[in-house]
Amino acid sequence: MSKKLLLKDAHIEGIRYFDVYRKQGGYQAAEKALKMTPEEILEEVKTSGLRGRGGAGFPTGMKWSFLAKPEGIPRHLVVNADESEPGTFKDRYLMEHIPHILIEGIIIASYCLGSNASYIYIRGEYSWIPDILEAAIEEVRNAGFLGKNILGTGFDLEIYVQRGAGAYVCGEETALLESLEGKRGNPRLKPPFPAVKGLWERPTVVNNVESIAAVVPIINMTGAEYAKIGVGRSTGTKLISACGNINKPGVYEIDMTITVEEFIYSDEYCGGIPNGKRLKACIPGGSSVPILPANLLLKTIKGEPRYMNYESLSDGGFATGTMMGSGGFIVLDEDQSVVEHTMTLSRFYNHESCGQCTPCREGTGWLYRILKKIVNGEGEMKDIDLLWDIQRKIEGNTICPLGDAAAWPVAAAIRHFRDEFEYYVKTPELAKVKPFGLAHY
Ligand code: NAD
Ligand code: SF4
Repeated sequence: MSKKLLLKDAHIEGIRYFDVYRKQGGYQAAEKALKMTPEEILEEVKTSGLRGRGGAGFPTGMKWSFLAKPEGIPRHLVVNADESEPGTFKDRYLMEHIPHILIEGIIIASYCLGSNASYIYIRGEYSWIPDILEAAIEEVRNAGFLGKNILGTGFDLEIYVQRGAGAYVCGEETALLESLEGKRGNPRLKPPFPAVKGLWERPTVVNNVESIAAVVPIINMTGAEYAKIGVGRSTGTKLISACGNINKPGVYEIDMTITVEEFIYSDEYCGGIPNGKRLKACIPGGSSVPILPANLLLKTIKGEPRYMNYESLSDGGFATGTMMGSGGFIVLDEDQSVVEHTMTLSRFYNHESCGQCTPCREGTGWLYRILKKIVNGEGEMKDIDLLWDIQRKIEGNTICPLGDAAAWPVAAAIRHFRDEFEYYVKTPELAKVKPFGLAHY
């Protein structure tokens, strides 16, 4: 059974409220941290090996150490709660059920970074959660953990909750900052990174909800103890939101030592695939990471078991970076059509493109239209190569990762399921009714 750090008290009635959270040891980490120096906290976070839980997996301690500290210029912590990645809903769960672990993490991180005004930017569709967060913030203020001179330490902090307006691209950190400043959420060119020029051109750290919540157990147990959980550079625990063709969709906390097979089939997690169907494919880390067929999901190319961690979840060297992504685990059984699934994603990315870069603005539209043509039974063989060509021209040629995120699912679908695309072109009438064969098991 995986060790639980973030969700260990999730089953306790009323854990959403300050008194109950406090009774379970809540805010002890904040009390401890406020007696430490910011440098000591930073050292603990670095030692923990915590990697950004929003999707990129960038080391959190390193990001904090990049924060510029020019004399007389305020710095900010901004929590990215714009969780919009298809298949990802773990931050929603955390904020809805245990909001105080996020608020406590913000207090510790703000003190460490020297932020006296910190922000939670939350996606507009999570319309009921800002009220939960604001109620929690009020409780914490009444308990003396927010406001002026917190616990007599001389440290002041205000936390503000800002609602987004429903744009996926505002989850990209620089678009988020633009939106927070009251402008249209267009991503900025990086560098400069927010650590140097962020909110109102001030040094800013942007961290995901789960990353900030993880700071609480790190301070409670020490970074060294946190680093002992997990394996290699995948330290600590990770929240996974599991959905698709599984018996038990939901949010699970794993310690990154379990195999993908165990995660899908064990009763402790997804509980297997309904109706005795077979596994066809899975998107292991939210729609921005490539789809993996069952044979590559359960075993690596070398034949070793595939583990649920940053190192093991890769596309056999095809895709860059980790496929752990945002932890949005989408399972497809043998009845699902990868071609139709890819078309749905392409429609999404085309709709969400902000339109600044030509390859993304035009390319995502082309991808969607060609995929739609194939799904509608009007595709030609050359369309498959055209899709490949277009995605290649988007990848790496845009301001923000939305372009790559639109290209990769198409590339992976063609790479691993080309026969299915060809099947649609050759036998459109049969493809609509399925089946797609078991070529991928
Ligand atoms: P990134 O790799 O560009 O950056 C990661 C973080 O490290 C950023 O905060 C960046 O500012 C910082 N950083 C990197 N190099 C730095 C440097 N030299 N100096 C200072 N700071 C530096 O990735 P990203 O754009 O933040 O995230 C992309 C990922 O987001 C995708 O892989 C996808 O998985 C994920 N994603 C998640 C969601 C969601 O809802 N959770 C939605 C869309 C995408
Ligand atoms: Fe906008 Fe797409 Fe360019 Fe990102 S890649 S800045 S979403 S056009």
